[in-house]
Amino acid sequence: MAEHEAIALLSGGLDSALAAALTARLGFGVTGLNVSTGFCTGQGRCDTVLAAGQRLGIPVRLEDASEEYLDIVRRPKHGYGSAMNPCLDCRVFLLRKAAALMDAEGAEFVVTGEVLGQRPMSQHRRALDLVARESELGERLVRPLSGRLLGPTYPERQGWITRNDWLDIQGRSRKRQLELAARWGIEEFTQPSGGCCILLEKSYAQRLQDAFRHRGPDSLDREAFALLRYGRHFRLSDNVVAVIGRDEQDNAVLSTLSSGRWTMTFPDTPGPTALVDGEPSAKELQLTARLAARYADVPVGTEVTLLAQRDGEERELRVTPLSPEEPLIERLRIDG
Ligand code: SF4
Repeated sequence: MAEHEAIALLSGGLDSALAAALTARLGFGVTGLNVSTGFCTGQGRCDTVLAAGQRLGIPVRLEDASEEYLDIVRRPKHGYGSAMNPCLDCRVFLLRKAAALMDAEGAEFVVTGEVLGQRPMSQHRRALDLVARESELGERLVRPLSGRLLGPTYPERQGWITRNDWLDIQGRSRKRQLELAARWGIEEFTQPSGGCCILLEKSYAQRLQDAFRHRGPDSLDREAFALLRYGRHFRLSDNVVAVIGRDEQDNAVLSTLSSGRWTMTFPDTPGPTALVDGEPSAKELQLTARLAARYADVPVGTEVTLLAQRDGEERELRVTPLSPEEPLIERLRIDG
């Protein structure tokens, strides 16, 4: 057991793995922590982090904070970035989780893979200082990859290491990280960059902004946030949104979100699954069917049957597809 222990936030990306690796190479005991916010992209992210821990020879804790994190997305104190990404609040949230584990484990500092100047919103100097302050970690928050360029850290103050043990990487280039990864043999299991999340995606941001505007942030529960991830979204009225699957995966997910909502399928022809969020009128159900038919394998002008179902109730709808050139489609589309 090492004399001094650290908690390393592991995102599944290369930088956080390198920061943990450097800390371990300096003789500290390191425990990795991956916090799931529920908005992470990429399948098998947890597997990636666990594999990273194994290769680095460090234990890894996985924490699911997805329910708690919704409040960060609803009302970020520091606002959003280019999409609906609340990066500063997100960093503070994750660092508080790491700080809690640090206290529980008797560790003495927290390590992240942040690199000065790498991300415009969350990794410029003022942002790095702000999250250190708001997470209440202060000098116990260490960014080994840029440590030489930043203020003194707790391990230096204690005389366990010197400034020069940290690195002086800054900016957006990933050259030095890739060189280090190759030198330390840790490039195989990492994704090229961590921190990618669905909140950065423009189309998700458009749907979320629309939902906040029409329903208010507090009325969106976990399932409502999840539904915004799948399909094409069309706002039919203040309270009604039609969602049309884009592919097999969307169709499968929409079927699992059908409780309390109308879903539509094509019994006789290949076509997307459609789902109606809200309480639609008969006219809105009909319009959803025509929208869904526009994306089905049906020639324009041909009548087609859809089966609409909700909690045991069933209706058969006969409609003609909207023409792809119909301007209404673009007008209703939320995520165009
Ligand atoms: S991009 Fe990274 S820091 Fe920003 S909100 Fe997403 S996970 Fe958090």
